[in-house]
Amino acid sequence: MTASTLHLPTDFETYSEARRAGFLRMKALKEAGARVVGIFCTFVPTELIYAAGALPVGLCAYSEEPIAAAEADLPRNLCPLIKASYGFARSDTCPYFYFSDFVVGETTCDGKKKMFELLGRYKETYVMQLPHRRDDAALAFWREQILAFQRKLEDFYGISISEAEIRTAIRRKNRERRALKAFLELGKLNPAPMSGYEMGTRLDAGSFSFDLEGRCREIETRTAQVRAAWECGKTSRRRPRLLVTGCPNAGVREKILRTVEELGADVVAFDTCNGIREKLLPVDEENPDVYDALARKYLDIHCSVMSPNDGRLADLGQMLEEYAVDGVLEIVLQSCHTYAVESFWIRQFVEARGRSYLNLETDYSQADTGQLTTRLAAFLETME
Ligand code: SF4
Ligand code: SF4
Repeated sequence: MTASTLHLPTDFETYSEARRAGFLRMKALKEAGARVVGIFCTFVPTELIYAAGALPVGLCAYSEEPIAAAEADLPRNLCPLIKASYGFARSDTCPYFYFSDFVVGETTCDGKKKMFELLGRYKETYVMQLPHRRDDAALAFWREQILAFQRKLEDFYGISISEAEIRTAIRRKNRERRALKAFLELGKLNPAPMSGYEMGTRLDAGSFSFDLEGRCREIETRTAQVRAAWECGKTSRRRPRLLVTGCPNAGVREKILRTVEELGADVVAFDTCNGIREKLLPVDEENPDVYDALARKYLDIHCSVMSPNDGRLADLGQMLEEYAVDGVLEIVLQSCHTYAVESFWIRQFVEARGRSYLNLETDYSQADTGQLTTRLAAFLETME
């Protein structure tokens, strides 16, 4: 494979640049009296936060920097996402954590839920109890948790949230889901119309704009630009088409996603919670029970913390066909047991469909960059 430079637009911002740029916006919003709630996971129903007149801000951390501070309290062999998120709080180096009025955790994986117990020493931490099944009992329990979260927001801010406000928030969030899904589905075009590195970065970086409508318009504009350029045939090329699955990948995007595209592949699809997974199913706007609608939507996110999690395979099977995928790259963050174990099924499923599969276990350090590059180059050779 010959190395190539990614074609990134002139206004492209890396994730760190976008995160930094958001600091001042957040400060200005707080000075103007904004309510801000910190979140760590896609399972948290942000519709309720918007309905409370507040802004959700993502606190999952993707940097190696705060990990040393975290390891003073947490075991070293813990997922880097958990350590980095905690480390930012402990070292008081994340403005978004600082500006959050309180933070919402969830009982997803063991490491995260136990970390939240310690996190409460730095900021009020409210934990939603997420069931790990999808049967009727789990649905009823999760619906109660959603109601309890609404009460928490009402008590904390001294407000009352109406059903009409929740319905408005549901419509706004569904609009955002549609816009982001359409953007991600550009990856179905063949040859690939844009870099998956850019796609993933824009998706994660957009959360620092804090303007839901503005974000939708921005992403719709970029979707239209990319499609128009593709239709003019400016981007035609034939390279291996990859689907990325597994853990959230923002913390390893440079050393894996950028590298694999520079080595000559196109990342066209993301089966991840920072990809299309949460955008596939909107909240049902017609459901007369608004809490049931939210509970059903959020319980159906195919994260590996759920057991069983067959829906992930069903989505994956569909994506392999719709995106004409040649190979699957599974990224497992170190010590993430749920994704590590589930990768057994993913490999079996992908290989049975005649696609190449590569599993990369990694963390946020640069120590394995050379080794990862070698493995990625060898992986691409299997698709030549
Ligand atoms: S991987 Fe699962 S638990 Fe982790 S942030 Fe995503 S949805 Fe939440
Ligand atoms: S990547 Fe895995 S271990 Fe890390 S927070 Fe998500 S589910 Fe937990």
